[in-house]
Amino acid sequence: MTHLVKGLILSLLLSGLPLMAGVPAKELVELGKQCEKRVVKLRGLKVKKPIRWEITSKEQVRAYLKQTLAEQYAPGEMEAEGDAMKALGMIPASMHYKEFILKLYEEQVGGYYDPKKETFFLADWIAPSLQESIISHELTHALQDQHFDIDKFVERVKGNSDAMYARAALVEGEATLVMMLDSMKNMGVDIELDMLDLDGTLGTLLMSLSTAQFPSFSEAPRALKETLMFPYLKGLNFVIYGKKLGAWARIDQVYADLPVSTEQILHPEKYFLKRDKPVTVSLTAIEKIVGRGWKKIYVDVLGEFMTRHLLAGLDDRDEENKAAAGWDGDKFWVFKREGELAWVQMSVWDSEKDATEFAGAFAKTVAQRRAGFVQQPTTAQPMMTWKNKKDRVVLVERRANKILIVDNLEQNMIDSLRQAAFD
Ligand SMILES: [Zn+2]
Repeated sequence: MTHLVKGLILSLLLSGLPLMAGVPAKELVELGKQCEKRVVKLRGLKVKKPIRWEITSKEQVRAYLKQTLAEQYAPGEMEAEGDAMKALGMIPASMHYKEFILKLYEEQVGGYYDPKKETFFLADWIAPSLQESIISHELTHALQDQHFDIDKFVERVKGNSDAMYARAALVEGEATLVMMLDSMKNMGVDIELDMLDLDGTLGTLLMSLSTAQFPSFSEAPRALKETLMFPYLKGLNFVIYGKKLGAWARIDQVYADLPVSTEQILHPEKYFLKRDKPVTVSLTAIEKIVGRGWKKIYVDVLGEFMTRHLLAGLDDRDEENKAAAGWDGDKFWVFKREGELAWVQMSVWDSEKDATEFAGAFAKTVAQRRAGFVQQPTTAQPMMTWKNKKDRVVLVERRANKILIVDNLEQNMIDSLRQAAFD
């Protein structure tokens, strides 16, 4: 789930001069200086030390991406992440995950800030009309780093991608807001920005724009596309919400008290007003029960945002969003055996009603995610099971506000799993 890379703070390709790899030419340096003045004033953070930047080529970006991935992932870890997404039905079984992610990132990078070098890099192939926007976005990252030391928390949070997306949303949401406000000012528009309806027309428009321009993005499965966009779009709304409450000073405080879930980003009131802290689910027994050659390859927190994508089979955004809301914590385990994948998830919900809603929505997706599984006639909410001819089971069970999902494991493990989960 965690295809976010440390230090690789991507710029959305959303403001010209010819670009050559290396030290920026005179005119560009001048453009950068003007941007810097504006961004410093707009964001209200001082420059503590000179902000360095360079122009970078496609080859250099590719090398940086590869190196960053190698630092962030142990050998085999990225493949396991890909397998996890396959198990959950979010990417096709045939996809070469690591290669696809590299291609997708390469295509999407307009610039990036490298916290280790404390330097931002502007891609030499970006359109002149985008240069100023990307410069102001990356300048914001440089200021964030000088004031809040961002490299510490742009790292992968192992075992909790949900928390990592939330942090990324703060950093990217802020840089995107500064970029937008700066562009608007340049056009003579000086207004306070309100939260944008990203689940509606605007979100659809942004997606389709990106789709038209970028081939890898356009062929990416929905979950990958939207995970890539999440920090910029949903993060933007989160930062707008906080800024309205207490100006930039309120956002400064967030760096000392980070958002910990995508739930808090999607519903900023659950961070800024009535803090909704997620429940930590831990169930080590599950790993002991699932044996018989199944090897645990991945453990993570799915979170509200990815739960929406787990329900993508419903093909109804309102229903997906509604069913994923009320999430209060989860953990999932992915197992592999001879090329086959299975998973178990334990989730906790704000209320029984929320849990029931999620179970019902997930149940509707079983038929398309698992061919050959037939729902057992005697089962209905709160416990539903499906079986196939190989004695494999899909189980969705609710007790109080908790849901256990088992997908593609053998019948003889099911009762032990249920006991471990609920007792
Ligand atoms: Zn960024």
